[in-house]
Amino acid sequence: MLEDRYCPHCKAQLQSWIGPPETGWGEILVCNNNECTFYVGSKTEIQNKDEDNSLGCRYAEDPDNCYTAFNLLAWHKVG
Ligand SMILES: [Zn+2]
Repeated sequence: MLEDRYCPHCKAQLQSWIGPPETGWGEILVCNNNECTFYVGSKTEIQNKDEDNSLGCRYAEDPDNCYTAFNLLAWHKVG
């Protein structure tokens, strides 16, 4: 049973998410808020994005590692 955790950037409740098997993450907690200041701000900081897509970082925590915060790299469509 995971704790209720909240994004420190936008105060949204973090959603549990099972990482792809190759990542070895298991279940993690992610901020899925597209308006999150952390997520929105990350778009402009990443280089080498192509015209149709850009990368963003969502705020995430790893319950298996004392809820350590990390950046979850995520694709999102522009427009
Ligand atoms: Zn957030």
